[in-house]
Amino acid sequence: MGYLQFQPQNAHRVRVDARELLFHVPTTALFEIDATDGDLLGLLAEKGRVTAEDVQARFADRDPADIARRLRGLIDLDIVTDGRPPAAERPAIRIESFPLSTIVLNVNTGCNLSCTYCYKEDLDTPAKGRKMAFETALRSIDLLLRESPDRDSYNIVFFGGEPLSNLALIRQVVEHAEPRFAALGKAVSFTLTTNATLLTEEIVDWLDAHRFGLTVSMDGPKALHDRNRRTVGGKGSYDAVAAKARMLLARYRSRPVGARVTLTAGVTAIEEIWDHLKNDIGFAEVGFSPVTSGPMTAFNLNGEELTEVFEGMKALGRRYRDAALEGRNIGFSNMHQLMQDLWEGRSKALPCGAGIGMLAVDHAGGLNLCHRFTGSGMDLYGDVRGGIEKERLAGFLESRLDRAGKGCATCRIRNLCAGGCYHESYAHFSDPLKPTYHYCDLMRGWVDFGIGVYGELIARAPQFFHDHIAPRRANGK
Ligand code: SF4
Ligand code: SF4
Repeated sequence: MGYLQFQPQNAHRVRVDARELLFHVPTTALFEIDATDGDLLGLLAEKGRVTAEDVQARFADRDPADIARRLRGLIDLDIVTDGRPPAAERPAIRIESFPLSTIVLNVNTGCNLSCTYCYKEDLDTPAKGRKMAFETALRSIDLLLRESPDRDSYNIVFFGGEPLSNLALIRQVVEHAEPRFAALGKAVSFTLTTNATLLTEEIVDWLDAHRFGLTVSMDGPKALHDRNRRTVGGKGSYDAVAAKARMLLARYRSRPVGARVTLTAGVTAIEEIWDHLKNDIGFAEVGFSPVTSGPMTAFNLNGEELTEVFEGMKALGRRYRDAALEGRNIGFSNMHQLMQDLWEGRSKALPCGAGIGMLAVDHAGGLNLCHRFTGSGMDLYGDVRGGIEKERLAGFLESRLDRAGKGCATCRIRNLCAGGCYHESYAHFSDPLKPTYHYCDLMRGWVDFGIGVYGELIARAPQFFHDHIAPRRANGK
C-alpha cells in the first residue's frame, strides 16, 4: 500500500443512541459499523491521506489481517481510494428517450377558490377559466402511448385550477381511456388533487368507481386553513371544505385519501395540523409542502419559520417512529416517503420524474416539465400536436444531471435530494437548473434525522417495512 485517500463525499456517519451507522452516499445504503470501523474512519477523516505506517501506528494493538480486510471493504465502497480517483458515481447519461408513465392534464385554469398564496401564474376565476378541449386530452394520451408503448401501466393526472370545475372533460377522458388501455392489455389509473368544495355524493361515487387516487388541499384546523384558503369573496373556506372532506372520507372505499398542506408564513404548526387532518377529519395520510419561493414573498417562509417547520417535521417524525415501533403507520407522507427511499436504496440522478417520466399539458396543449410550470413564463418543450422537443428537453435534463462544479457534487444527500425541485429553483432563482441552495442545511438535517429513524426501525421493527412499504409499492402508490 502506497497511501489511501479518504473520499469524505461518499461516507456519512450517523449516531443512533449507542449504535453507529455508515450512510454510503453513492448507493444510499446504510451499514451498522463497530468501534474499529469507527476508529478507521476517524483516522481517515483526520488525515485525509494515510500511509501503511499511519495505519500500523494507530492500530498496533489490533489484528493486521482484520484491519486490512476492513480497509478493502472501504476501497470496494469507494470510501477510500488507493491513489486513483474515485469511480464516477454513475456513467454519463445521454437522454434519448422519454419513458413517460404519467401525463398531467391541466383541464381548467379556473378555480372557484381564491387562495391568497396560490402560485399559479395562469389562475383565473371559474368564469374566465380556460378549459382544455377533449381533442387536446386525446392527443395527450396519444403522446403518452407513442412515447412509451411498452409499459404495463400508465397514470393520468387531472390538475387545474380546480380540476373538478371541468368534470365534463374528466368524465370524457375516463370513458375514452379505460376501454382504450384495456384493449391494449394495459392498466390506467387516474389521480386528482382537489380543494373538495365541488364534490357531491354522486361525484364521489363516480370517482370511487373509477378508483381515482385523491388528494385534498387543506391546511389544517379552521384558524390556520382560513388564513389563506379563501373563497373568491374573501371568506374562509374551512367549513365547506371540512364538510365535503368528511362526506368524501365516509363514502370513499377504493383507495386511501390523503391531504396536502401548504405551509406558508404563519402556517407552520405541523403536529397540530397533522392531528386535525388525520384524527379529526380522518385522512389516511397528510403531506406537507413548505413554500419558500412563491411569487408573493409575504407568504414565503422566512429562515426562522423554515427552521420551525423542519423542527415540527422532526417532532412528528418521532411520533411516526414511535408508532412504527409498534407496527403502526400514522400517515405522515414526507416521513414515509423518506423511509421508502431509504428502504429501496433509491439513488436519484434527478429530483423527480418531471420531464422524463412525466409531462404536464397545459389547457392549450403545450408541454411543460410538470404541473407547477403550466402557465409560467418558462419555455414549453413542444406541444401535443407536434410532439416533444426532444433535443431541448434532453439538454435541460442533462444539464441538471451534470453536478460538476455544483455544491451537490459532494453533498451527502445528493442522491436523495438530487438538487431539489426545478420549480422551487425557478421561483427562487428564475433558473430551474440551479439547485435549491436556499435550504440545503435544513434538508441535510432532515435526511440525517430520517437515516437515524430508519436505522432504528430496521433494527427494532423490520416488519414495519414489509407491512407498510412493500404493499404500498406493489399498489403503485
Ligand atoms: S440542493 Fe443542496 S441539499 Fe440538495 S443535493 Fe444539492 S447541495 Fe445537497
Ligand atoms: S419539478 Fe418540483 S413540483 Fe415539479 S414534479 Fe418535480 S418536485 Fe414536483
